[in-house]
Order: sequence, then C-alpha cells, then structure tokens
Amino acid sequence: MIVFNKPYLTGKETHYIYQAVYSGKLSGNGDFTRKCQQFFEQKWNFNKTLLTTSCTDALEMAAMLLDLKPTDEVIVPSFTFVSSALAFVREGAKVIFADSHKGNPNIDETTIESLITPNTKAIVVVHYAGVACEMDTIMALAKKYNLFVIEDAAQAIDSYYKGKPLGSIGHLGAFSFHETKNIQCGEGGLLAINDHRFIERAEIIWEKGTNRASFFRGEIDKYGWKDTGSSFLPSELNAAFLYAQLENLQQIQAKRITIWNYYYHSLKILEEQLKLNLPFQSKDSTNNGHMFYLICNSKEEQIQLREYLKSNGILAVFHYQSLHRSDYYSNKHDGRILKHSDRFSDCLLRLPLYMELTLEECEKVCQSIKDFFQTKKMLL
Ligand SMILES: *Cc1c(COP(=O)(O)O)cnc(C)c1O
Repeated sequence: MIVFNKPYLTGKETHYIYQAVYSGKLSGNGDFTRKCQQFFEQKWNFNKTLLTTSCTDALEMAAMLLDLKPTDEVIVPSFTFVSSALAFVREGAKVIFADSHKGNPNIDETTIESLITPNTKAIVVVHYAGVACEMDTIMALAKKYNLFVIEDAAQAIDSYYKGKPLGSIGHLGAFSFHETKNIQCGEGGLLAINDHRFIERAEIIWEKGTNRASFFRGEIDKYGWKDTGSSFLPSELNAAFLYAQLENLQQIQAKRITIWNYYYHSLKILEEQLKLNLPFQSKDSTNNGHMFYLICNSKEEQIQLREYLKSNGILAVFHYQSLHRSDYYSNKHDGRILKHSDRFSDCLLRLPLYMELTLEECEKVCQSIKDFFQTKKMLL
C-alpha cells in the first residue's frame, strides 16, 4: 500500500525532547521555542515570530490583533482550509469569499477590488501548495484601501515570491507544522509579525493577555493582565521536536522537490494529451515541494481515478470543499457563484508525497494513472 502521507522523523526529535524533559523547563517560551523562532528570524530574516500550538491558533491571534467589529468584513478565498476563515468569524467579522483563478487554486487577485466595501478590514491570502499569490497586486490594493493582509502560509515554508519569503510580505503571516506539512511536530504553528505595530500586543495575546514575555526578558519587575488573549504557546516538548525538523530543512525540501519533479516529468503527457492540468507554477514563485496534484476534467473522472488508484494500493485524496457552500457558512454567503473554487473542490486529486516515498513508488503511481487513462482509451 502506498499511503497518502507519512510524517517524517529525522531521528533527532526524541533526543531534543529528552533534553527538554531534563532541562526542568517544560512549559512554553523556553530554549527550544526561542531556537525555533530564531531559525525563522535568521534563515528568512523574519522580523518577529511567535511559536503557536497550530496555524489555526496563529490565524486566531492575527484576527485578535485586527480588533474586528461586527460590521467589519474580511476577504478570504473559498478554496481553503476552514481555519483561514474561522479565525475571523470567531472574532465577529463577516467573511466575504473570493474565487480562485481558472487554472490556479490561489485567490484571483483581479476579483478582489470589486469585493472591497467601506467595511473591509483585511484580505487573507492562502499560498496553495506553497505557490505564491500575486502579492504585488494584493499589497497595492491593501495600501490603496488601507487594509491589512494576512498570509495563510500554512503550506508555504521555504517558498519565495520574487525572492521574498512567503509569510513575510503581508502584515501578518501564519505557518503550520501539522503532521501533513513539510516540517512538522504533530500539531504546531507560528505567527510572523511583519508590521512592528503589532509586536507588543501579539506577545501579550500569546501569553494569556499578560505581559509575561517582557517580564521574562527582565524589562519589567512584575507582570499582570493587560489585554485579551489566550494560551497560544506550545510546550517545550513540541518545540524540541520541531527544532530537530527545522535543522533538517534542507534535506527534507530537496527530497520533496525531487519527488515533485519526478511526478511532473512523468505526468506531463497527461497535460499534453488530455488537457488535464498539473500543479500551477508561476515565474514569480518558487516551488517548495509541498504538494503534487492533478486537476481532472470532471468530478466523475476524479472519483473514478481515485478509486482505480485505491484498487491498485495507492491512496490519492481530494482536497478542500468550497467554504462558501459549507453547512456552516452557506446561509451567510451572499449567493455569488464561485465556479473555479467549486471546480477545484470537484476535480483536484492530490498524490502521495512524503520524505520516505521512493522513486520506485512514484513510478508505480505514475504508471497506474497512465494505465487508468489507457484503459479508458483516452491516452495513446
Ligand atoms: C494545514 C492548514 C491550516 C491549518 O493548520 P493547523 O496547524 O492544522 O491549524 C490552515 N490553512 C491551510 C491553508 C492549511 O493547509
């Protein structure tokens, strides 16, 4: 059986957890938390980062920092994970869903301006599969209308837009270390605070509404309740695990990109002969090997191919279902049809991609996909 995802272990995780356990400091904001944050600050030049218990929590912190009012609107793509919208809904804002591009699951930046009203407060962008959204256009809109931009960079570690690391371009950026992501610690996340006006308050929100972080740095002699907040810090055990993964970033990324390229070259023929799309690539964005997908020509084809692969011992999976049509939000949506988002919900199929996947297994996946289309007499 070729499974869809296998969380990778570098081998050093338990060693660092052991160190954390015997250091006597197990709660958050200790040495390993600082090491992980410094990794982001040194490798990618992030201004200020805070490790969180998930990307969902990092997005929630971002929503809290915006001080949303019930009349405020936040523009979010519909083709994304629930958390990209949920964080803002929880803070009381109204989410206005935007469509994807025709051939690219990312938000179609050319539709954003028509969704902006006097109540719009922020735009959330999701770099799907680690491929950058059109950030120049989006940041220019934000400037013109005085809006905040939050990058959901959950899938976008170590990927770049015109040379700038994703997650560092908007006012705030959120990363995920869920076990399905390139770098993982089971559950984990990180908030990048790129706009310095948010730094002080972000630390307070992170530490249950107290100024404990600045107390620990010795800047004040006692700490207390200053603002709203929650417990957004992961324990040192999670941070220790994560640090082992970050140390191996280069090796992990190289392997994932090798697999991605193998799929791409082997399956290119489907694009040429069947007009079936392979992952979108952009000249302005790098590829971080997060995900490889096919866009089938119909929902039926996606289901048939998925079942065919399953009967051959290969687990491929579909992805997001449009949020504007979800049980929770459909009656709050304004009724616009978002056809590209719906098409990706129906037709996109993700292939296995993880560190331990061998190129022989990759070849088996590619051959099975080609067999499927050959049996249907669609492929020569
Ligand atoms: C994985 C993911 C999330 C959620 O991350 P968690 O760390 O599980 O909270 C949010 N947005 C996107 C785009 C994701 O891929």
